[in-house]
Amino acid sequence: MGCRGRAAKRDLLRLRLEVASGRVAVDPPGGSGGRGAYVHRDHACVEAALRRGALAVARGLRLGGRLPREEVDRLRTRIEEVLAQA
Ligand SMILES: [Zn+2]
Repeated sequence: MGCRGRAAKRDLLRLRLEVASGRVAVDPPGGSGGRGAYVHRDHACVEAALRRGALAVARGLRLGGRLPREEVDRLRTRIEEVLAQA
């Protein structure tokens, strides 16, 4: 989790590695299977996770390395969309 805080699952977003495409998708908590990492549903936590960043997220997803910058930007955009819907 991005900030190492604790929260009910409903307050989290789940970032999931799509194995086929190698991309990161955003799921509701408890969503579909596969490898996932969690961040809180707030901008500060998401930004902290992305800044520290991508590396921590990638480790959470067991990619074993830093996410490419374009993927970080894409992921941020996607997360912002999800937050805006919540
Ligand atoms: Zn957090």
